[in-house]
Amino acid sequence: MMAFTNPHLSFSRISRFEQCPLSFKLSYIDRLPVSQPLPEPLRFGKVVHAALEQFYRDLIEQKHDGPLPEARLLFDFSEAWKREGLQGLNLFTEGALMLGDYARRQHHVAASNVLAVEQEFRLQAGPFTVLGYIDRVDRLDDETIEVIDYKTNRQLFTRDEVDGSLQLALYEIAARRIWPWAKRVKLTFEMLRHGLQQHTSRTPEQLAATLQYVEAMGRATEEAESFPARLGSHCATCDQRANCPAYAEALQGKRSTITADPRDLEAVAREREEVARLSKILFARKNELDEVLRHHLRERDELVLAGTRYSLTPTTTAVHYPTGRTLKVLQERAALPVVELFERLLVIDRDALDALVRSLARDLDRPTHLLLRAELEALAERTVSPRFTAKEIRR
Ligand code: SF4
Repeated sequence: MMAFTNPHLSFSRISRFEQCPLSFKLSYIDRLPVSQPLPEPLRFGKVVHAALEQFYRDLIEQKHDGPLPEARLLFDFSEAWKREGLQGLNLFTEGALMLGDYARRQHHVAASNVLAVEQEFRLQAGPFTVLGYIDRVDRLDDETIEVIDYKTNRQLFTRDEVDGSLQLALYEIAARRIWPWAKRVKLTFEMLRHGLQQHTSRTPEQLAATLQYVEAMGRATEEAESFPARLGSHCATCDQRANCPAYAEALQGKRSTITADPRDLEAVAREREEVARLSKILFARKNELDEVLRHHLRERDELVLAGTRYSLTPTTTAVHYPTGRTLKVLQERAALPVVELFERLLVIDRDALDALVRSLARDLDRPTHLLLRAELEALAERTVSPRFTAKEIRR
């Protein structure tokens, strides 16, 4: 193989190598075209980013100063959606609700405090040039800036993931060079699906270590002698799936480990991890196939294919009783006091409560809002039960 050199490094190059060396090789060394169309979550993320970019660029141009115009953001979202050619009412609605919620959560926004949108940067890490783009940078006061990265992830990051994020650390280094007057840099993941932000910061020592790590990873990509496939749930969103022999074998359910002796715990663990990886991949594939069939079921009542009948049948997924009328009937017929009925029957759903508290944020000042959250958190009753977990230890 010819010696490979990175024309530049970026967060996405390094994280691709960390997550799956084979994916890195297929993309950057073999330079194979990515699978088309890209997996839906990637395309959805792209649409949301494009909408927010256009939206903030327009606010800057119009010197906006006031609450965020929600309708304008939804318009930018539908334009970006059309350009991307995405389909699916559920996903569109999800995006529109998510961005509407985002716009309502912002209080007063002065465009003069938005320092940059999609800010390009270049950094030097040893012999490597690191190239990147920051979603948005805001000025918080005369000494502080906030670096914001939008995320459409379904899961929140753990504290360790936020505090150890390579992406945010690189953004801070870049932001400090572009705005050298900033004494403090707040790092924020804007978790759009959850309606909240995850914050972190870095020490100067951590920033220095970040550049050393990037340099080491750059060298690792160039000196690697093998690029093993690392199968996992991330394969569902890998843009090299069509070029990946390991993924093709996984789809065929190819297995290498079957434990004969359950007393051999190392072998049990190996097989368990292999089965867990394959089942995630097969489950994601089944969802993709379901989506294709669902799409066709919009135009007809049923499909009969390969000896199977498919249809969308209305099914009762949940039964709810209207609160006021149900309590009234119980009060009248069972003669129970309403306080007792509240205690025995009502459970407040966490998602509904979160949504209510978020919607109140606009009408309450920040200290009252924080106090309300803290008081409700203190009231929460938690059920704790043992949960079986498995986490890979990278060696
Ligand atoms: S499909 Fe999975 S194993 Fe294959 S290249 Fe992509 S991430 Fe790696």
